[in-house]
Amino acid sequence: MTLRAIAVLAVLSLALAACSDGTPQSEAQSSAILPTIGTSGHSKSTTPAKQVFGAEQVASRGAPAPFGSYSKGCMAGGAQLAETGPTWQAMRLSRNRNWAHPATVDYVMDLSREAAQQPGWNGLYVGDLSQPRGGPMLTGHASHQIGLDADIWLRPADNLSLSVAERESISSISLRRDRGAFVNDNWTRQHHEILKAAASDPRVARIFIFPGAKVQMCKDARGDRSWLRKIRPWYGHHYHFHVRLACPAGTEGCVNQAPPPPGDGCADAQAWVETILNPPPPDPNAPPPRPRRQLLLADLPQQCATVLQ
Ligand SMILES: [Zn+2]
Repeated sequence: MTLRAIAVLAVLSLALAACSDGTPQSEAQSSAILPTIGTSGHSKSTTPAKQVFGAEQVASRGAPAPFGSYSKGCMAGGAQLAETGPTWQAMRLSRNRNWAHPATVDYVMDLSREAAQQPGWNGLYVGDLSQPRGGPMLTGHASHQIGLDADIWLRPADNLSLSVAERESISSISLRRDRGAFVNDNWTRQHHEILKAAASDPRVARIFIFPGAKVQMCKDARGDRSWLRKIRPWYGHHYHFHVRLACPAGTEGCVNQAPPPPGDGCADAQAWVETILNPPPPDPNAPPPRPRRQLLLADLPQQCATVLQ
């Protein structure tokens, strides 16, 4: 294996670590089977958790609390982001995913006010937060389970009087070209400024966006570069960026992800871009990817049984 190939593998494994919550999928799945929970007869611990959490229409009562990790957990006492505010609109309302820990709702509203100061932006179009009680989803995301993840559209929110129907049909815009190695002509300085504001907030643990955007921000950043550390290159994420908040103070059952490696991460992002442009030949000895087993209620923290009551 060449040094270059080793470097590429190192970057890829770093990147993988950046999005997973650090818990191997096979761990913690042999935990004790919980007794039958919930009120419906079929809500047994062997039920796929996404079916149960995906059916919840409102938040649970009680104090706000994230339980577990971003990709294996749930949320009590969720708050709902208003469908429309002075500087935001929640999109795809039919999904009923404009719920989150109140700290996330506050953060999204704060960021939308900052975005509204950018030319051409009146605020933000907000994509998925979490389901009313968090947990795994029937479609989409592996994470967004504990109310601390938020997807923000990269389309400038220039019209904040979109109807409910328009918010179903309108699409965001892609900012990438060459499979994410570079930004395209839709990228603007305003995107840079909004992402910088998003990452500079101490409530934020990391932000996911495609590699070419990170490299562009690395090139354009002047002065303080510390905020770049939290901007993490990731697959997809060219129609929206994904903000992940750290566990708010005093949330005992909330599991933080390990912080990003020290430094601005620009060399890693550049290495990923080079891998996109010159992909290494496939390894004939690579094991086939293991399909992800779906999460059962028994896989989630015990508090999640209470959240469903
Ligand atoms: Zn997301």
